[in-house]
Amino acid sequence: KKRVFSGIQPTGNIHLGNYLGALRNWVNAQAEYDNIFCIVDLHAITLPIDPVELHTNTRKLAALYIACGLDTRYCKLFIQSHVREHAEMSWIMSCFTPMGWLNRMTQFKSKAAGNLDSVDTGLYCYPVLMACDVLLYQTHYVPVGDDQRQHMELTRDLAQRFNAIYKRPVFTVPEAQIREEGARIMSLTEPTKKMSKSDTDLNSRINLLDDPKTIKKKINRATTDSLRLVTFDPERPGITNLLTIYQVLTGESQQEIEAAFAGKGYGEFKAALIDRLVTTLEPIQKRYYELMNDLPTLEGILKQGADEVRPLAATTLNQVKEVVGLG
Ligand code: ATP
Ligand code: MG
Repeated sequence: KKRVFSGIQPTGNIHLGNYLGALRNWVNAQAEYDNIFCIVDLHAITLPIDPVELHTNTRKLAALYIACGLDTRYCKLFIQSHVREHAEMSWIMSCFTPMGWLNRMTQFKSKAAGNLDSVDTGLYCYPVLMACDVLLYQTHYVPVGDDQRQHMELTRDLAQRFNAIYKRPVFTVPEAQIREEGARIMSLTEPTKKMSKSDTDLNSRINLLDDPKTIKKKINRATTDSLRLVTFDPERPGITNLLTIYQVLTGESQQEIEAAFAGKGYGEFKAALIDRLVTTLEPIQKRYYELMNDLPTLEGILKQGADEVRPLAATTLNQVKEVVGLG
């Protein structure tokens, strides 16, 4: 089986974008692959975060992985900082990463938001750590959302460059797996921006743990337009985003959806979307609260995951050290 690796940062509440762009695809394809899914807490400290919040977010995210359907029969689940090899490899790879390559990363520019002198260097080096996460496990496929396309290109470039320098296939060159639908879920309030955990506007996203009342409120407030036509239209990003969410959740085609809502208003469509969201999230939330009520079991799963992946990571790291001349 081919190796799959991916991760989510425990920076806040997991939202619909993370679910439709990443997690849901991991779950749907898990039986086909040899999967490793990580909670990337080392990435979460690239911007200031409260320690207690980071610790609880990490457990919550692990519980959500399982609640969404990740099954330990197919997947190894672990916390990034529990496997030291990630941090160690990251230093070595940063010595093989041209600054010009990192200067081109658009996520750094938008997250630094103009504070280039005061932002910590971890944010700048984030893509190197991400590359190491993937390369340590000789990964074939990395299922992610569209926003990670550039970081995945960098990961491939770093792997190829390293292999070329030492004239040995030390790293498997991984491929990003970005699905057509749901790869870029937009903010509900500013539909030209992607939905993000770190957006300060709480109404911009549906969290997987939102209750039905909150979902209803957020969808009803979501930005649309005055045309009142329930159709997919790039010129109208608000309604198109809501329709895309509906499309991924129902599995219906764009034509089928447009036909079903022809002549109907946004109110009627939003009611149908709210209904879908509530029925999708209800079972996930139920399992989530069960898991959170039994933290020792959850910690056990994460410990076992880390114990299982550590030797895999160590094998790659040792090879890297050997070819570089370290150790
Ligand atoms: P942050 O704002 O802290 O960066 P985030 O919402 O971007 O949080 P990440 O942990 O960075 O979430 O990303 C986890 C996964 O979710 C990645 O695979 C990413 O591509 C995917 N993802 C994030 N936002 C979206 C979105 N709006 N639509 C689809 N996929 C997304
Ligand atoms: Mg992100």
